[in-house]
Amino acid sequence: MAAKVSAIETIRVEEFPNLLWVRVIADDGSDGLGETFYGPGAAEAHIHDIIAPYLLGKDPHRIEQHQRHLTGYVGFSGAGAEMRGRSAVDIALWDLFAKSKDMPLHQALGGAVRDSIRVYNTCAGTRYVQNRPTQGTDNFGLDVSSDGYEDLNAFLNRADELAASLLDMGITAMKIWPFDYAAEATSGHYISPRDLATAMAPFEKIREKHGDRMDIMAELHSMWDRPTAIKVCRALESIDPLWVEDPVFMDHLSSLDEVARATAAPIAVGETRGGRADYRQLLEMESLSLIITDIAWGGGVSEARKMAAMADAWHVPVAFHDCTGPVVLATSTHLALHTTNCFIQEMVRAFYYGWYGTLVTQLPPVENGMIRAPEGAGHGLSLQPDILKRPDCHIRRSAL
Ligand SMILES: [Mg+2]
Repeated sequence: MAAKVSAIETIRVEEFPNLLWVRVIADDGSDGLGETFYGPGAAEAHIHDIIAPYLLGKDPHRIEQHQRHLTGYVGFSGAGAEMRGRSAVDIALWDLFAKSKDMPLHQALGGAVRDSIRVYNTCAGTRYVQNRPTQGTDNFGLDVSSDGYEDLNAFLNRADELAASLLDMGITAMKIWPFDYAAEATSGHYISPRDLATAMAPFEKIREKHGDRMDIMAELHSMWDRPTAIKVCRALESIDPLWVEDPVFMDHLSSLDEVARATAAPIAVGETRGGRADYRQLLEMESLSLIITDIAWGGGVSEARKMAAMADAWHVPVAFHDCTGPVVLATSTHLALHTTNCFIQEMVRAFYYGWYGTLVTQLPPVENGMIRAPEGAGHGLSLQPDILKRPDCHIRRSAL
């Protein structure tokens, strides 16, 4: 007899107000762990109000059927609360399935095409995106008092030293966002020659000191209008970026297309989109150089692997986002090992060597700039048992 989903639990801790975990538990004792990030209350409500009444009592191994059913009449695209809730549940279902077959997730997906994959470092500080999101502000979270890697402060002030420290660890690609101050000052409608020069300086310092030993990505966080984005992208051509990410707000694709066609810099977008139709529209533009997806924002493992296959048919590589939580990093690593048109995995060393390890039982090992799957079945991670006993831990349960 097939197992049945008997309970769905959501777990939050106040210390990390953007993180939400979900446990899907079956009546044969199997379980899986999922995760999503941002607005956890809304995603949690969707899981208990809409997903649980459907999923309880169902065979947890029929992931494809559930993915189809949980794609709602509303909330089927973008990265809204319905999509984030569905994504977390999908990750948990894949973990449960792979664990119940006693295989690592990449094996359950059809096998790895590589044993490890190159990482790039997103140069955030330890507390970056750790506060409750305040729309449109607080993009920096500069906290020089913390004792971890303060890579955001470092890229603003000593990017060449930061690059040297990454190269020492074997990490040969880094992403920075020194244009954001200028964008905030003008709501993205103008950049002065002086601000442009200030924002270019970190890139130039890295190139001057380290030449082509370091690949550099410029993150623009969708903050610029069309003409100013073009100006910024054209300036970045001089340092030969690996990609320029999210030049304009992602609600008007012809604007994005215009920017991509106006610059020789490779343009990458996608982490704020969700569902395969969103990605089809991006690929149909025929002007993007890389598609990014966040598996916890875009529809889970099920949707991300389909998106990646679709991108492959366009001869476009993909990359999976990490700047959120450890379960997403581990699950993305499995998916990256399985995905032919993926050449690099994002990580944030300030999170990885900071707080990620305090929440889960293990992390995907990173050595000499390469990440590989953790030991064990499923994605390999469980929450640290003491998380559930913390006074600031809140668990909500829907059960048969
Ligand atoms: Mg990004």
